[in-house]
Amino acid sequence: MDLMEYQAKELFAKHGVRTTLGRVVETPEDARSAAEELGGVTVIKAQVKAGGRGKAGGVKLAKTPDEAFEHATSILALTIKDLPVNRVLVTPATPPQEEYYFSFLLDRSNRRYLCIASVEGGVEIEEVAKTNPDAVKQIPVDPGTGVDEAKAREIVAEAGFPEALVDQAVTMVQALWTVFVEEDATLVEVNPLARLEGDVLEALDGKVSLDDNASEVRHPEHADFVIRDEEDPLEAKAKDKHLNYVKLDGEVGIIGNGAGLVMSTLDVVAYAGERHGGVKPANFLDIGGGANAQVMADGLDVIVNDPQVKSVFVNVFGGITACDEVANGIKGALEILGDEATKPLVVRLDGNNVEKGRAILDELDHPLVTQVDTMDGAADKAAELANANQNG
Ligand code: GDP
Ligand code: MN
Repeated sequence: MDLMEYQAKELFAKHGVRTTLGRVVETPEDARSAAEELGGVTVIKAQVKAGGRGKAGGVKLAKTPDEAFEHATSILALTIKDLPVNRVLVTPATPPQEEYYFSFLLDRSNRRYLCIASVEGGVEIEEVAKTNPDAVKQIPVDPGTGVDEAKAREIVAEAGFPEALVDQAVTMVQALWTVFVEEDATLVEVNPLARLEGDVLEALDGKVSLDDNASEVRHPEHADFVIRDEEDPLEAKAKDKHLNYVKLDGEVGIIGNGAGLVMSTLDVVAYAGERHGGVKPANFLDIGGGANAQVMADGLDVIVNDPQVKSVFVNVFGGITACDEVANGIKGALEILGDEATKPLVVRLDGNNVEKGRAILDELDHPLVTQVDTMDGAADKAAELANANQNG
């Protein structure tokens, strides 16, 4: 789960990373009162799970409470990278003298952690990496030893923080490491990490991604970070039904049993799509081993309600749940959905009891259902139907 800036800052404060919390509000009126309470110049910042808010007009300085009201009004009307702004953070404005970049992240391919630091922060780090790669330092962190004071000093020296900030930076790096480890994060990023007047080092922005696998068991309190109205409605629905679903950007809805099969289905559909108007998979959905009618109905319900979906490919390899049960599941799902089922369904059944399964669907003779015996053939058919549907 990715956190909003204000949530990331709450975790920073909890673990001793210097930052300014401010107030999160949902209306211009509340932004005005927050600015009144805080006094002085404030910054109004869009709270969306996307970077580049500054460039998009989502970060503005307000000299007076009335200005806070005006800026909040315009920022709350913004959509940044397709995300509507529903909240703004109002914080006391602390003018940065210099802006740095700092992050810890999980380096999966090398089975360790990585620290990325640069004294040329503020702008997007990918930009700095392109224009001035030497300014971006990458320091591996051994998971066994982590970041103690000596390691923090090594990081700070490598990054090249100014002399006057070295001790503060060492403390800050250790505190950020604590956030990373104690909260089971996969990313902790500060950009800008700012040098304020009087040589004070402070996290002006924060980005934290939490490991959901750890959150469920080790951090029940992380559930409080979920903001209902910020969730993708389809993903929220899938989560309620305990479905393993990820929304993607294409037109062919996908249901399969087993993560491996679904992954390869995505590849096959993407490949077939190249022959059919460039259509792509619309989602990942693994209904797992026990695909009874209800689970199939739940899965289909989520997928057919995605307006981007133009056809659905049900790809099942019967194992513990045999093909006849899956076929009955599809039949039952179509009954449960009734008029809501409006999109063509391409079904490929194989494996345990395949003949019985195919016979059940043949007999059903549903106008929306097409059976294809091979995975490649079914992917091709699903892509063809999606393409025809998006043009018609
Ligand atoms: P992002 O563009 O989404 O990464 O949003 P940031 O929080 O990084 O804000 C963009 C820029 O706005 C920063 O690089 C700062 O220059 C400025 N900024 C952000 N927060 C503050 C603040 O509290 N005070 C002041 N004066 N400037 C800020
Ligand atoms: Mn930033």
